[in-house]
Amino acid sequence: MLRTLYSEVCGTDVHLRHGRLAGVPYPIIPGHVSIGHLAAIRGDITDIEGNQFREGDLVTFLDVHETCGRCHECLVTKQTTRCAKRKVYGISYGVADGPLGGWADHIWMKPGVKLVRIPKGLDPLTFIAGGCGLVTAVHATERGEIRLGMSVAVLGAGPVGQAAVALARLSGAHPVIAIGAPASRLAFATRMGASHAISLDVAPEERAAQVRALTGGRGVDVVIEAAGDPRAVGQALDLVRDGGRVVVAGQYTDGGDVSLNPHRQINKKHVEMRGCWGCDYSHLHRALELLVHQASVLPWGEAITARYGLERTNEALQAVESRAVVKAVIEPR
Ligand SMILES: [Zn+2]
Ligand SMILES: [Zn+2]
Repeated sequence: MLRTLYSEVCGTDVHLRHGRLAGVPYPIIPGHVSIGHLAAIRGDITDIEGNQFREGDLVTFLDVHETCGRCHECLVTKQTTRCAKRKVYGISYGVADGPLGGWADHIWMKPGVKLVRIPKGLDPLTFIAGGCGLVTAVHATERGEIRLGMSVAVLGAGPVGQAAVALARLSGAHPVIAIGAPASRLAFATRMGASHAISLDVAPEERAAQVRALTGGRGVDVVIEAAGDPRAVGQALDLVRDGGRVVVAGQYTDGGDVSLNPHRQINKKHVEMRGCWGCDYSHLHRALELLVHQASVLPWGEAITARYGLERTNEALQAVESRAVVKAVIEPR
């Protein structure tokens, strides 16, 4: 059992509130990425180094659970985030399954949950500030294969976009162009490492012209789409250079169809498009390592612009939906 210290409110929770995710066993306890102290342990539980967990340890855990390790996706194509058996805390467990969400004072760690100790010196608030957005951005950056000296555009200035900007910067990319709204989020993206910021108030064609002007007329090597609006995918294809790469990470729910021009935007452009679905243990592990060693370089913790008790979760969801805050944190006690 984990005594919850913080859980977070992410865009997915807003989608869950509006019933936009398929197959969710409502009612649920929301909250997928959480941090807390181990309140009670039954049996021996060890981390990946073999070190035993003890009651009182400050830990987080991979919200993805029950990846089966025996299906075609797990064993043959090795994309465990597509395992049909996997469950996610706060999303695909219902209240009837037990206390399996972070917006609660305690969370049940089911057998086999992958716990990770929070290293000494890492502020729990800094961890939750990175949270699910950072873990997702680690995966998206990996899919984007961002290298030293590459030019990168990040679409979306929410938690995933902010973290993707930071990771592109830490990967040695330049320029790192953040495109999003509102102005307060773009200003924060600049502090997280964006060398340039372009507002959604600028018309899409003009945004593409500005990106080309920053990249010798070619467009960027990699676009990370973390916007959530399906129209961002068309924009991503207009911003990427010939032969560049687009990672679609923001379309976690079905936002509808968009029209593309396959000849002009994909085939002739020789472009590579990659989806990015969910996360596995490696992304959480690396996110934590990164925060331990790089937390002081960038203002991660300042992403949290509001903290809410359990009685104010509707307010927290509203603040995230209206983009009034970059990141809202639930503090159950
Ligand atoms: Zn599987
Ligand atoms: Zn999330």
